[in-house]
Amino acid sequence: MIKVEHLTKQYGERYAVNDISFEVKKGEIVGFLGPNGAGKSTTMNILTGYLSSTSGRAMVDGLDILEHPLAVKKKIGFLPETPPLYLEMTVKEYLNFIYDLKKCTLNRKEHIEEICRVVKIEDTMNRMIRNLSKGYRQRVGIAGAIVGNPEVIIFDEPTNGLDPKQIIDIRSLIRELGKERTIILSTHILSEVKAVCDRILIINEGKIVADEKTENIESAIRGNRRLNIHIDGPTASVLPALKKINGVIYANVAQKYEDGSALYIVESKNNIDVRKPIFYMLAQNSWPIMSLAIKGSDLEDIFISVVDEAEAQAASEK
Ligand code: ADP
Ligand code: MG
Repeated sequence: MIKVEHLTKQYGERYAVNDISFEVKKGEIVGFLGPNGAGKSTTMNILTGYLSSTSGRAMVDGLDILEHPLAVKKKIGFLPETPPLYLEMTVKEYLNFIYDLKKCTLNRKEHIEEICRVVKIEDTMNRMIRNLSKGYRQRVGIAGAIVGNPEVIIFDEPTNGLDPKQIIDIRSLIRELGKERTIILSTHILSEVKAVCDRILIINEGKIVADEKTENIESAIRGNRRLNIHIDGPTASVLPALKKINGVIYANVAQKYEDGSALYIVESKNNIDVRKPIFYMLAQNSWPIMSLAIKGSDLEDIFISVVDEAEAQAASEK
């Protein structure tokens, strides 16, 4: 349903999104999890045609967003990080306004009533948006996003700033909507993606660092291990040799020393212990190991940071 290929967005020298690729199948609910500044909003704004990419492309239902912007916009409902609500309008006026804006062709009255039923705002139809609570405003934003019955809905941090009860309500609403639609939602809260999504993409510093089914995410991440190895040997040969070792998913030089040795970071996947093969490979080449330390992976650090943030937030809400 959604296909993103090598998407990149640069602001000057900085990469907000750096060469990301992923697919979302019809009917999936996919979570975009990452700390603040990771590139979640940028990706979503590109997917919905609100922002242009520097390179790469995004397709929705086989249509390239740049080539068919209007057709794509019709297929996607979008709840931006700050929903563009008109505070002086009533809920009904607002939804009618969005209806016109989207040039919707469904039966106006029936469709708007149906939406209000789905997002449970029937009893606020005639109230001014200004007078609604944050939770209700969010529902109105979601109602606006589903005008026209889009097949895909994209939610950018849909529960940000809501109280715990409202968070639970909005999450169950999203799950409900996801029964018949394809959904992408972004959040920096791990428990949120776990509660709502079938699949989780973890994004950090503009790159996708994990793409796993929700039930596998923890073991996938906790399974990764990082080694810091100080090796005495020519970097130009040692690094490619490390990368070739079965189970190594990442290797790089962290620091070079004056004596020609260097500190390498090596990450391995899912509990594959790469220490022995690394030792034999280095021994064969007469590249001595000066030291070796086992660390959690970067991914685990990111994971811990999102968990911690969620816990900090939960604590602050008490
Ligand atoms: P997230 O939604 O995950 O918090 P964003 O996609 O908003 O992250 O931002 C990703 C990175 O791009 C951040 O470092 C942010 O500062 C930068 N960025 C976003 N918008 C702009 C902009 N208009 N100009 C310059 N940098 C930007
Ligand atoms: Mg954001």
